[in-house]
Amino acid sequence: MLKISIEPRRRYLVIDLRRYSWIPKDFDKIGGLILTERELIIPLKKRVEPRAEVWSSFDVNLTNITALIKGSIVRYDLRRLYHIHQVYEEKRRRLQKLAKHKPRTTRKLLEKYSRRERERAMDFMHKLTARIAEELANLKSGAILEDLKDIKSRILHGSKKYNRKLSKWNARMFQFMLEYKLKWLSLPVKRVDPRNTSRACPVCQALMAAYRGKLLRCMKCGIILDRDVVAVLNLQMRGAGVPPRVLLGALAPMMGKQLVDIYSR
Ligand SMILES: [Zn+2]
Repeated sequence: MLKISIEPRRRYLVIDLRRYSWIPKDFDKIGGLILTERELIIPLKKRVEPRAEVWSSFDVNLTNITALIKGSIVRYDLRRLYHIHQVYEEKRRRLQKLAKHKPRTTRKLLEKYSRRERERAMDFMHKLTARIAEELANLKSGAILEDLKDIKSRILHGSKKYNRKLSKWNARMFQFMLEYKLKWLSLPVKRVDPRNTSRACPVCQALMAAYRGKLLRCMKCGIILDRDVVAVLNLQMRGAGVPPRVLLGALAPMMGKQLVDIYSR
């Protein structure tokens, strides 16, 4: 129970923390409270010593997150999230007609839409990162993420402005939410330079070229791989220092005969 004095000995704000299931129970202490007109911020503190036995890698894209977890490629679908953004983008677009005649109403509606869009998108990301954090905790796995300081060099390459904005939002929000959830569970996060991760061949590091659809083909060794898989394999190699042979050897059974053929050459 938190009892915060608003006016000394006259008015108190009493909060029963047990009522909020999403507040972690395993904290060591509560930090300095911040009360504003709109919200109360309660910093929960816990001493952790992040340690990982294995590493998993995550590559965030516009409509999916591709991961390498325990030697398997896992895809998390972000299409529902993309749809949320599209719905509100459409609402905003329709509002443009109203803007001339009723600027105030338009502004208010725009604010409302933005707030709702954000809430729904955050809720989606919270649930997804909670699920992933739990999965990694069971495996005692740390997470390898791309260093977003260099995000321009990759995610933003060649897509439309609106989609670029969303990709960036996805990547930042996913990383932010996953990182603090993992830290709370004493699991470390490692960031690696994402330069060329979706263009360098995971087998020989030569340049890959567009092949068909989302597939890329190495111009040197001829291996054909999905672009997102290429990115996540490169992240794993950079972050966990796994040699390509070991990594691809483990993946070969699930990635089709072609990979096995090239790999065994
Ligand atoms: Zn190659």
